[in-house]
Amino acid sequence: MIINQKRLIEEFIELVQIDSFAGQEREIADALIEKLRKLGCRVTEDNAGKTINGNAGNLIAKLPGNSDKPTILFCAHMDRVAPGNNIKPIIENDIIKSDGTTILAADDVAGIVAILEGVRTAKEQNVDHGNIEIVFTIAEEGGLNGAKALDVKQLEAKFGYFLDASGPVGTIVNQAPSHKDLDLIFYGKAAHAGLRPEAGINAIVVAAEAIANMNIGRIDFETTANVGVIKGGSATNIVPDQAEVNCEIRSLNEDKLQAQLEHMIAKAEKAAEKYNTKIDIKVTDCYPGFIIPETEPVVALAVKAANSIGIEPIIEGTGGGSDANIVNGLGIPSVVLGLNFQDVHSKNESIAITDLIKSAQFVLSIIENA
Ligand SMILES: [Zn+2]
Repeated sequence: MIINQKRLIEEFIELVQIDSFAGQEREIADALIEKLRKLGCRVTEDNAGKTINGNAGNLIAKLPGNSDKPTILFCAHMDRVAPGNNIKPIIENDIIKSDGTTILAADDVAGIVAILEGVRTAKEQNVDHGNIEIVFTIAEEGGLNGAKALDVKQLEAKFGYFLDASGPVGTIVNQAPSHKDLDLIFYGKAAHAGLRPEAGINAIVVAAEAIANMNIGRIDFETTANVGVIKGGSATNIVPDQAEVNCEIRSLNEDKLQAQLEHMIAKAEKAAEKYNTKIDIKVTDCYPGFIIPETEPVVALAVKAANSIGIEPIIEGTGGGSDANIVNGLGIPSVVLGLNFQDVHSKNESIAITDLIKSAQFVLSIIENA
């Protein structure tokens, strides 16, 4: 066993106990800056914190190589979801969990410690490596806002690995959809519902007709759409003059995403036209998608690294978005690696020590096999 299990667990326990909500990563960032410097990295912090009104930026660390192997990027996020303050981790045999009052924050502290311990071990074992870049982002949860403000000009890596997926260690996520939000406001006309209903236009009815005519759910194997929120009306005796409908569309295929978006907008416009009323339409690009062929170096190296330590590589797509979507969009081909954390974003969240060790070994193996 090359990985120092005791040190890895201690670092995990230490870091989950540092509170770190999105936008409030200062304390964990300071702890990580110190650890990265001890590893021999030059560490800078970009201005993303200012952009999002947070108290820390993305950390960008660079470890100079000792060979001419390619520069590799490793990335994990520093923030976590609620309830994630005052975490009291408990170790039971091979499992680490919280005391049940909070999440565990294995998402994404497991990714952070796998990177730190993998790189640390590579140094201790005098492994030949190219330049290594490590990015610890802020504000991944709730909008990938740290990555969106990442100062990517500082990076020279040809490809990257994000440690932030569920699924067994060995999982290599090489595709993820684009995602757009569609926000619709249907306008009606208010009137007293008992005295003069015929003078009103019921915005809820207009919205309902539009939604009823939309194809949503799974559109095809690579496209999904959802109507997630509907708000409108203020009292039963008033014909509502406004109804708001919030939708999302995701697809691995940009053309299909656009077609689905246009379909939903067309149904909204048709309903508004039928009732002779107006709508507001707002489309938001949440993040771009990516599909990286298995022949690309970033995937091929991960497969080779997994095989060389006896971990089964599992190449698969996801329906979700992560910082990797943003960084792929910024021009650095990147895949997401599975950490096998369980029940993330819940108080039942847990991770096996065996998997923490495997992830650190996987990072080390990627460095060795590059
Ligand atoms: Zn995460």
